[in-house]
Amino acid sequence: MRLALSLENLIDNLQKLPTIGPKTAQRLALYILKMPEAEARNLAAAILEARDRIKPCIECGMLCDTERCNICEDDQRDSSTICVVGETSDVMAIERTGYRGRYFVLNKDFHVMDDNALDGLNLKLFSDRLAGGAVREVVLALNPDIDGEIMSRYLAGVTNKFGVRVTRPAHGLPVGGNIEYADEITLRRALEGRREF
Ligand SMILES: [Zn+2]
Repeated sequence: MRLALSLENLIDNLQKLPTIGPKTAQRLALYILKMPEAEARNLAAAILEARDRIKPCIECGMLCDTERCNICEDDQRDSSTICVVGETSDVMAIERTGYRGRYFVLNKDFHVMDDNALDGLNLKLFSDRLAGGAVREVVLALNPDIDGEIMSRYLAGVTNKFGVRVTRPAHGLPVGGNIEYADEITLRRALEGRREF
């Protein structure tokens, strides 16, 4: 049996979203079709409006609807520390810890196996901020996977050239976890971040 073309099209498009497999896409498509018309139109309009209005902050790269984001605009922030993260959602997570420094958001999925891994990363913007002289510490808070590790090493190299200190969060072992089952990167970094007992 073939699905109606427009339904198939909706499912195909939903399936392009991360973590959405064919079954979930089908379920979401059918759910959307059962929504009241006004709600479905609001959803479509919200996607288009966000797509049009949201852009990377010209200073830190965080997604926002103004030229500079509210963190870059906030002069109470500590400009001597920059925390480098992969995505705007990571900024939100770090904000919840009470961090009061500034950010640099890469905004790009990078894969080390990809020859063009560095293309599209605004590294000139990053170097310019270090060249400004106010930055004393760069905290590399990229995801602790292979891609994040290699990118961190690269950014540490760039940062070192400016004589700026490079740190990263001491990724600990998960509470309730088992050392035997911790992956190598987590365990190595937990050991690196060890403190006085
Ligand atoms: Zn900003």
